[in-house]
Formats: sequence, structure tokens, C-alpha cells
Amino acid sequence: MKVFKFGGASVKNAEAVRNVASILKEHTSEPLIVVVSAMGKTTNAFEKLHKEFFQRGDNCTSILQEIKDFHFGIIQELFPKDHPIHEEIHNTFVEVEWQLEDEPVGTYDFEYDQMVGLGEILSTKIISGFLKEEKIAHEWMDARDLIRTDNSYRRAVVDWEVSGQLCKRKIGSYFTKNPNGLVITQGFIGGTSENFSSTLGREGSDYSAAILACIMEADEVVIWKDVEGMYNADPKFFENTVKLNNISFQEAIELAYFGASVIHPKTVQPLHRKNIPLYVKSFLQPDRKGSLINENAKDDSIVPSYIHKSNQRLISISARDYAFIIEHHLSDIFKLFAEHGVSINMMQNSAISFSVCVDEDDRLENLIRELQKEYKVTYNQNLTLLTIRHYNEEVIENLIGKKKIFLEQRSRNTARFIVESEAGPSIQFR
Ligand code: ASP
Ligand code: MG
Repeated sequence: MKVFKFGGASVKNAEAVRNVASILKEHTSEPLIVVVSAMGKTTNAFEKLHKEFFQRGDNCTSILQEIKDFHFGIIQELFPKDHPIHEEIHNTFVEVEWQLEDEPVGTYDFEYDQMVGLGEILSTKIISGFLKEEKIAHEWMDARDLIRTDNSYRRAVVDWEVSGQLCKRKIGSYFTKNPNGLVITQGFIGGTSENFSSTLGREGSDYSAAILACIMEADEVVIWKDVEGMYNADPKFFENTVKLNNISFQEAIELAYFGASVIHPKTVQPLHRKNIPLYVKSFLQPDRKGSLINENAKDDSIVPSYIHKSNQRLISISARDYAFIIEHHLSDIFKLFAEHGVSINMMQNSAISFSVCVDEDDRLENLIRELQKEYKVTYNQNLTLLTIRHYNEEVIENLIGKKKIFLEQRSRNTARFIVESEAGPSIQFR
């Protein structure tokens, strides 16, 4: 059995959906689970809608209309006018409208998960409808009935035991009846024991594919991208990039953790556990080899790899009375970060202050307010975190040059720099 994951870019328009169908047609003689993301930038659009809804803004209807127009535009190109998909998608949007009619009842994160994950429901329904048109036999499954999570919304934690039972019951029995079957399901979302929707964190569809592969003991996972594999740097930010053909699980975890956007950092661990190889391939050139990530890869990733993470905030925390920041402060501080669901990208301490670099996020304001009850907090925004794996002085010089460095760390394999972004930092103090 294989597990394929198609991301937002691979289903961003009608032509892309046709292309996915043509790739799947090549794999009808083997059991296959296909995990799909929301179409194009739909998740961002739903995030905007949710924010507007939560702030009781006036633009909910117009934001929702944009999401509708985008999806119905794709449907129009793929299906005849009287096709039942129109009604099916219409009904999914009615669910959103109902949600918008009421006041938000739950927390910000709870309401987010009930709304934002619908992008994946829409995309998989459209793809399933199109596969039916193309006579590609398959079964649409709701990931909320397969992946059980706790109720830490927006960063839900998988209950492996219950998910294992659910998947084996539902997916397992489907493949018993259809040995070369095809399952279409959603990335990113799961369900709680109370039947609410949850999400696994932004870009979490890769992780969904890895979870299903691990539970079903798949032979391999393929992540289909608009690039030919994993590169030593994101071509959006760097010139002269090279493709990495073989990457070990360990190196892949490091690269993903430091922010390489090709795979979600949590993806590798479940695959490593069951020793399932992961391919990253291009949906535009499906016959090319791509990159292979597995246990015994002869790492050719010893070439320097560059990872660029923009929109970073560097927060410095110090005791008001210039007391040392000691262990019990640190444990307080870490606890607050964990409670607010803010992950730390890099940290460093001096005698009187503790600095952390984090992604810009709407959760930061509350966190900083909490920290300020005990500590003096200052921060810089609009910074970039550059990580160089397998660095040498020359690449550092090329990359950093005269940029102002806010924080710097070097270990044997990795050098990391927080620098001002091209547009220059907007510095704020509190
Ligand atoms: N659609 C979700 C996101 O954009 C999940 C994913 O694509 O991996 O974050
Ligand atoms: Mg994605």
C-alpha cells in the first residue's frame, strides 16, 4: 500500500485537479490512500474569515463569497451544469453560514478548527466527484472519523491507539473488499471524542499522510509538490539551488525543524518508527525520480543547506530587578509558551535575559501580556531566521555579508542567524 499526499498547489485550479486524476489513473492496480489539502490558498482565506467572525466584523459575507466563487469556478470547469456536486458543495457552505449566524460560542482556537478545516472537506469532495466522472473507483472517507485527537485545538495531539482502531476498522475493511482500492481523505483535520473537528497545525497534511502510513504500515509515502524534490534551499529565496537525492530521516527531521518548508516537521517521526520511505516528487513531472528520504540514505545533504524563515519576532525576557534568569524562571517561561501554543525556533540566555525567536502569530499578544506580569519584555519584529546546515565560512559570508545580526549560534553542523529582513526591522519596545 502507498500513501500519496497532494498539497494545496497541486489542486489549485481545474487543470491541477485533472492532473491529479491522471496521476491516480497510473496507480489503479495497487492499494492507495490519498491525502489532500485545501485548494490553493483556501486555508488562508478561511483563517481570514474566522478572524473576522471572531472579531464580529462586517466582512464575513464578502470573504465567504470569495471562497465560494473560487470553488464554484473550479467546479464549473470540471463538471456539467446539472451535476450533483453543485448541491453538495453548496450544502457544505451552508454549514459555514450557520456557523457565522451565531455568536462564537467556543474559544478562538475551537471555532477556528470547526471552520478552517472545511477547506479540506471541499477539496476532497470536488476531487472525489471528478474521479467519479473519470470512472476511477474510490471511496471518500472523512478524516475526522479516522484520526482521533485530543481537544487541544489548532495543534491537536493524535490518539494513536484510537486512531489505529478507527483506521483499521474503516480503511482496513475497505481494502479487504477492494484489494486495489483507492481511498480519498483529507489532510490537516482530525476529530475529537466529542465529535468536534480538530486540526493538526498549519501545513499539517504531510503529517496526516505519515499518520495513516504508519497505522496502515504502508510501503511508501509520496508527497507530490510543484518542485522536483527536496532542495538544499528554497528557490524562492536562493539562487543556484541543488536537489538532494538521498536524505536520511535524521537529516530530514533537522531540516524540517529548522524550517525547510518542503515537509512538515512532524512528518518524519511516524515514518521513521515503521521505517517507511518517503519520496518527494513533482506532480508536474511525475516520472522524475524526486528525493528519497529513508533510514539508510547515503546523505548527499552534506552540501550546505540554507533555510530561510521570515516574519520572526525576537522576544527578550528579563527580570524587572535585573535578577539573574535562573532555572525556576525558565521553567515558568517555558510553561507559558507551552500553554499558549507558541513554539520556539531558537533561544539563548545571558545572565539577566532570555531571548527566544518565534514565528509571528496572533497568539503572541496574549503570551506577552502574561509574561509582562512577572518580567520585563522587549521585542523586535520583522526579522529573518537563517539556518545553514553543513556551513563553511564562505557560505556564511555570502549569505550574511553586512546584514545586521541580532542573534547568532553555531554548533558543529549548523549555524543560525537572526538578521533584519530586507525591508528592515520595525523595532518596538515595551
Ligand atoms: N491546508 C492546510 C494548510 O494550508 C494544511 C496543509 O496544506 O498541509 O495549512
Ligand atoms: Mg501545504
